[in-house]
Amino acid sequence: MSGSELAPRIRDFVEQHCIPAESATLAHDIPGLDRVILELREKARAAGLLAPQVPRELGGLGLGWADCVPVFEEAGRSLLGPGALHCAPPDQPNIHLLDRHAKPAQRTRHLLPLAAGAVRSFFAMTEPAPGVGSDPAMVRTTATRVPGGWRLDGRKWFASGARGAAFGIVVARAEEGISLFFVEAGMPGLTLVRDIGTLDAFGIGGHTELLLEDCRVGEEALLGRLGQGLALIQQRLEPARLFHCMRYIGLASRAMQLAQDYCRERQFFDQPLAGHQLVQALVADAHIDLFAARQMTAHVARRFEAGEDIRHESSMLKVFVSEAVSRVADRALQLTGAHGVSEDGPISLITRELRPFRIYDGASEVHRAAIGRRAFHRNLRP
Ligand SMILES: Cc1cc2nc3c(=O)[nH]c(=O)nc-3n(C[C@H](O)[C@H](O)[C@H](O)COP(=O)(O)OP(=O)(O)OC[C@H]3O[C@@H](n4cnc5c(N)ncnc54)[C@H](O)[C@@H]3O)c2cc1C
Repeated sequence: MSGSELAPRIRDFVEQHCIPAESATLAHDIPGLDRVILELREKARAAGLLAPQVPRELGGLGLGWADCVPVFEEAGRSLLGPGALHCAPPDQPNIHLLDRHAKPAQRTRHLLPLAAGAVRSFFAMTEPAPGVGSDPAMVRTTATRVPGGWRLDGRKWFASGARGAAFGIVVARAEEGISLFFVEAGMPGLTLVRDIGTLDAFGIGGHTELLLEDCRVGEEALLGRLGQGLALIQQRLEPARLFHCMRYIGLASRAMQLAQDYCRERQFFDQPLAGHQLVQALVADAHIDLFAARQMTAHVARRFEAGEDIRHESSMLKVFVSEAVSRVADRALQLTGAHGVSEDGPISLITRELRPFRIYDGASEVHRAAIGRRAFHRNLRP
């Protein structure tokens, strides 16, 4: 099935099931969100819509990257859509990474149940200062050789999805360099210290601070090769960013659709808000931003699917889309006045959900620095 065939079916599913299940009371309610997502996921499974991006041999619909563009946009229109359709982070990029690098036993133990949506996962790289943030080389968590495996020690935070996850992938520094290790829920030495309160509120499993203290893992816990961690992190990040762009275009587009509906109804003096040119200008700028964001996303997805090097384009895409969707949501909120600020509708929740995207998957400043550096080093034509 192609993306354009599947997208209307996803749109109907999101309209009928996901949007009606949205509620401001689910914000930061980690168990409540899990419950609602699991119910929706069963409906998506029954409708044959689960895991559009997951390869067929792992039980998904097997869409290519370019076909995912319209499908993920439709899923992304609801705060609950990506979770319901099993195309939400961190599981979605983790599945991508494990499919490429998990050893046969790791595939059976972790990848198969994850791809089927039977369990959840997390990815723990970031550490509180002075540990790793924007610069992945600053990892302080250690992996020390012990008989039969490794001992992990360190502190991680913002491990999205950790609460309720069956397993996670931890980034640690071994003698051979930065490496990735599986940890499993409930293992001795792994403590979920706290759920961090954040601006965004609909991430499945929240964002958690973790403590690794003499956490012993076996030889089989190593993902990929020792010292290969930075390359694997990069391989996980590029598709993660691309899919975030697809989903968030959907969310921003929904906010603006709601704002347009509001402006058609709401009167100001003798005519609807929609008749005022300053309102039309805000709407026009949102359409321009979304048009450009969609074209850029589709372009990068096609090139990624063709196996081309997209490092430069992916940085430009991430900066543009993360800032464009924030602008669109902010205009939608402005146009809907007090209603937009309230939690009676989803626009304030959408605005909060989109803002952190300018920080994770590489902050705008980090990507701009990389783009500028490449422009000079490679003497790129503007
Ligand atoms: C909602 C959310 C979910 C997240 N989920 C996960 C997760 O699942 N797993 C995980 O490991 N991490 C996760 N993170 C963490 C995320 O990866 C980091 O926030 C990101 O890497 C930036 O690191 P930092 O927050 O420590 O910022 P810092 O490195 O402290 O940077 C702070 C700011 O400094 C500026 N800056 C940094 N470097 C440069 C530079 N070279 N040039 C100019 N300016 C610069 C930027 O404005 C940046 O925002 C999540 C974060 C958020 C907000």
